[in-house]
Amino acid sequence: MESKTMISDRLREQALDLNLFERAKGYAYDYMSKILDQPVFPDDKAIAGLDRFREPLPETPGDPYEILERLHNNGSPATVAQTGGRYFGFVNGGAVPAALAAKWLSDTWDQNAALYLISPIASVLEEVCEKWIVSLLGFPENTAAGFVSGSSTATLCGLTAGRNDLLSKLGYDVNKKGLFEAPALRVIVGEGAHSTIYKALSIIGLGSERLIKVPAGEDGSISVKAIPEMDDRTLLILQAGNVNSGAFDDFETICGKARTAGAWVHVDGAFGLWTAASGELCHLCKGVDLADSWSVDAHKTLNAPYDNGIILCRDREALTNALHMSGSYIIYSDHRDGMLYTPDMSRRARIVELWATLKALGKSGVSELVEDLHHKAVYFAKSLEQNGFIVKNDVCFNQVLVSLGDPVLTKNALNGIQNSKVCWCGGAEWNGDPVIRISVCSYRTTYEDIDRSVETFIKAKAHALAGC
Ligand SMILES: *Cc1c(COP(=O)(O)O)cnc(C)c1O
Repeated sequence: MESKTMISDRLREQALDLNLFERAKGYAYDYMSKILDQPVFPDDKAIAGLDRFREPLPETPGDPYEILERLHNNGSPATVAQTGGRYFGFVNGGAVPAALAAKWLSDTWDQNAALYLISPIASVLEEVCEKWIVSLLGFPENTAAGFVSGSSTATLCGLTAGRNDLLSKLGYDVNKKGLFEAPALRVIVGEGAHSTIYKALSIIGLGSERLIKVPAGEDGSISVKAIPEMDDRTLLILQAGNVNSGAFDDFETICGKARTAGAWVHVDGAFGLWTAASGELCHLCKGVDLADSWSVDAHKTLNAPYDNGIILCRDREALTNALHMSGSYIIYSDHRDGMLYTPDMSRRARIVELWATLKALGKSGVSELVEDLHHKAVYFAKSLEQNGFIVKNDVCFNQVLVSLGDPVLTKNALNGIQNSKVCWCGGAEWNGDPVIRISVCSYRTTYEDIDRSVETFIKAKAHALAGC
């Protein structure tokens, strides 16, 4: 027989080549040692370097060393330095070192977290983290957790569980009958809701036009007085941490009423829910444990590496009824089978990083981290105020919205800040006006980083003023 090296022969050989993995480690160390000084957003040269990736699919197998080299030479410089200390865009968080290292190891395991039978280690870590998180947040004891890619998916799961449970209590089995003849539900959303809520509602067949939108107060939290009477057909969505201002809804008042009415309350707590674990800030989340489901990210405030989100649901069965599936080859066990709690079947064992993050922080570490982000956001806001910026929100947690009082000036200053590449912030509209939006959400940020960033803000302001 003709001897020809097949692709699997090559790959088997590469799997034993430890130098390849040493090379990857070397590049990673190189990246880590430079990231604090790298431009926070890639410069033009780095962006131009991305053209190297725009090529036709190779006809023949590539050399793994060249693949890594391409990534490091052309990819690393084109990353956003969100693991550095001066990235304040969106709400992105950092990566706890033990969790990153754990991710390297568990990537090597390449586990599929679908079933206990496919990965006992993933199943056990999910079981353990579920308990840890429920106790950390002070939620009801049997609260179930599903481990998903982020809050978008978590919200989708929570709202599906809520929709199905409300309909089931009205005598309608949506799993069987679909939405075709379902009793009408009333969906109540605050005007400040995150766009992922609208996306989830539209995916699960509740659309957008018939939602009851409740005005938000100036701080972005839902106006309690404007919430209409609720009943047992009501799906209410609240939030712990408005994506711009960081404001929290009044859970204590609203959830109490909702429970009496038989409504289902879902809380979008993507980054803010972790304040429930802080002694100093838990007042923001008072009463949040009275809700029915919660979505939260580990990859934001908690600083777990991407991607890591959690759906929590008071009624375990409501969640698994909404997400379960069956097939003759799917064998559920007496242990935790992760796929019962998520829309996915095959799924990477992201629980390893979450476990490592929680283990590395401990209860006191989570609380300290949350409070530290808050203190630094307050410091950032004060420094900016002392330098002629207007802070538009109450910095109740980690979000700061600033303006220069004039829309054009504010936009120009934001451009200046983004072009500086010393720090990076995004923009938003707040109560009709453009603002510069700062999110302090990484353990990497120091007070010196904030001082340096404030200097950049001051320069950008001077330029904006001179340009007018
Ligand atoms: C980030 C965010 C989301 C979306 O979370 P992903 O993890 O990006 O899917 C939803 N709601 C709020 C308030 C957020 O900050």
